[in-house]
Amino acid sequence: MGFGREKKSSSALDELIEKAGGCAVVDGGLGTQLEMHGASFNDPLWSALCLIKQPDLIKTVHLEYLEAGADILVTSSYQATIPGFLERGLSIEEAENLLRRSVKLAVEARDEFWNDIQRNPLHNRNRALVAASIGSYGAYLADGSEYSGNYGPKINLEKLKDFHRRRLQVLVEAGADLLAFETIPNKLEAQACAELLDEENVQIPSWICFSSLDGKNAPSGESFKECLDVLNKSKRVAAVGINCAPPHFVLDLIKNFKELTVKAIVVYPNSGRLWDGIAKRWLQPSKCFDDEKFELSATRWRDAGAKLIGGCCQTTPDTIRAISKVLKLKF
Ligand SMILES: [Zn+2]
Repeated sequence: MGFGREKKSSSALDELIEKAGGCAVVDGGLGTQLEMHGASFNDPLWSALCLIKQPDLIKTVHLEYLEAGADILVTSSYQATIPGFLERGLSIEEAENLLRRSVKLAVEARDEFWNDIQRNPLHNRNRALVAASIGSYGAYLADGSEYSGNYGPKINLEKLKDFHRRRLQVLVEAGADLLAFETIPNKLEAQACAELLDEENVQIPSWICFSSLDGKNAPSGESFKECLDVLNKSKRVAAVGINCAPPHFVLDLIKNFKELTVKAIVVYPNSGRLWDGIAKRWLQPSKCFDDEKFELSATRWRDAGAKLIGGCCQTTPDTIRAISKVLKLKF
């Protein structure tokens, strides 16, 4: 078997997926779980506010997701942006330190959990990876445009790259294992993210996730074929997928993505409740998934080709425990 076997260089993400048996578990909603602990986010900075006020709580939630079985922690930097912090009166240095803190909190939680669990010789866990969250430009605007894809005529490719550039640099330098671009609503921003990875010569793997309102297209109305054609050219984009879309869209979206890309597919939908980005509240549940439905669906999503599965808004450590339990059954 060893003879002639080609030595293949693989990224930390590929190795984790392999160790996890072909499908690794991403964590669940960070803001949701912070709110369960009593944090309130009536603020454009949303969960990034916790970075300033309650950093220990963020670490607690990371630990809860690790205990639930997450192989990947997504950091609290989704809505943490340098311009967002500057608008709140912070200095550039303070803003950059908060971004560094978001990575540090996840790395500390990962290391503490890993040190503890290794004392148990029977443990079947993987050393988790820390994915630095990079929310879309719309997430910074906090006007719901991450779900419409409509950034207006003044926004172009270069402006989107400039918006993302410094945060990306800081998060990479802070020691993240990978970058998670989240709720990207259109082709232009996907292209900006992919080109930026090249321009900045980023050496850690990235995933780029889109949201979807109709289960067929990006929120902008552009087809996923158009969006993925742009990303397929990028060697630095390791995985593509869907986050914060309703879970009942996910199976068909995985099947669609399978035909459009050879990259790993990552899915971490919300629970199915609809977020009204303008009113900043959850609308009436329509086709919500409870934890049991997530458990049932996780194997279907894996069998359809997903390599990374987790949850987004309104999912909790219980959701991740259910997903992890069923995906790791055979180990
Ligand atoms: Zn979400």
